[in-house]
Amino acid sequence: MTEKINIDGELSIGGDEFTIIAGPCAVESEKQMELIAKFLNRLGIKILRGGAFKPRTSPKAFQGLGLDGLKILYNIKKKYNFKVISEIMDPRDIEEAYEYIDIYQIGSRNMQNYPLLKEVGKVNKPVLLKRGMSATIDEWIKASEYIMMEGNKKIIFCERGIRTFENYTRNTLDLISVPIIKSKTEYPIIVDPSHGTGRRELILPASKAALALGAHGLMIEIHPEPEKALSDGVQSLNFAEFKDLFENINSMKKALKSNM
Ligand code: PEP
Ligand code: MN
Repeated sequence: MTEKINIDGELSIGGDEFTIIAGPCAVESEKQMELIAKFLNRLGIKILRGGAFKPRTSPKAFQGLGLDGLKILYNIKKKYNFKVISEIMDPRDIEEAYEYIDIYQIGSRNMQNYPLLKEVGKVNKPVLLKRGMSATIDEWIKASEYIMMEGNKKIIFCERGIRTFENYTRNTLDLISVPIIKSKTEYPIIVDPSHGTGRRELILPASKAALALGAHGLMIEIHPEPEKALSDGVQSLNFAEFKDLFENINSMKKALKSNM
C-alpha cells in the first residue's frame, strides 16, 4: 500500500491524491515568479517548483540564482500559501535551503550521489527522488534506501525519463516504472513529462498516460514566455498550454472515477 507523504502538515502526496506540481525550470526573477504564482494560484495548484541551484551540462550556462532564488521562492510561497520544491545539489545546500523550501528535490544527475542521499535522509522534510538518467529501477529503489536508512521516510519517486538510443525525445519516458515502483515500494511516484519528453507538444499525451498508469501526480515546467526562459524553454508550457493540460487532466480524472 502506498503511503501518503505529508507535506508540512497541510497537504499530502500519495494515496488517492493526484497532485500537479508546476513552475519554471529555474527561478529567474521576482517578476517571473510572481506572474507564474498568480496564474497557478488561480487554477488551484498548491505546490510550486523552481530551481535555485541548477545542474547545467555546460558550466557556462545559467547556474541558477542560488540563495537569492530560494528567497524569491520563499516570498512567493508566503504570499500565495504555496508549498515549494527546489533542487539541492550539494550536502551544504540542505541546511541553506531548509528554512525556505518544503520539499527537497534530488535531481537525476545526483540519484547516486550517496553522501547527498545520506544527508537528506537526516532531515525531516520530504524528498523527491528523480530517477537517474541511466539508472535501472532497481538502482533507483536502492538509492531511496540510502535516504530511508538515515531515518527520512518521506520519499516521493519521480520518473523523468532515461537515456536510450532514441533521440527524437530528450529522454525516453519509461512510464511502466509507475506500476513497478507502486508494487515494489510503499512510496508515491509522480511523473515529470517535461524532462521526460523535452518537447512541449508531447507533455499532454505523456501526462494522460501517467494518470492512466496510476501515477500520484505530475511535475510540469511552465514559463510566462518560454522562448525567453533561461533554461529548458523548449519543454516549458506557456500559460494557455498549461491551462489546457490542467483541464484535460481534470476531465480525464473525472472520467476514470466514474468508471471505477
Ligand atoms: C529539473 O527538474 O529542472 C531538472 C534539472 O531535472 P532532472 O534532474 O530530471 O534533469
Ligand atoms: Mn528543467
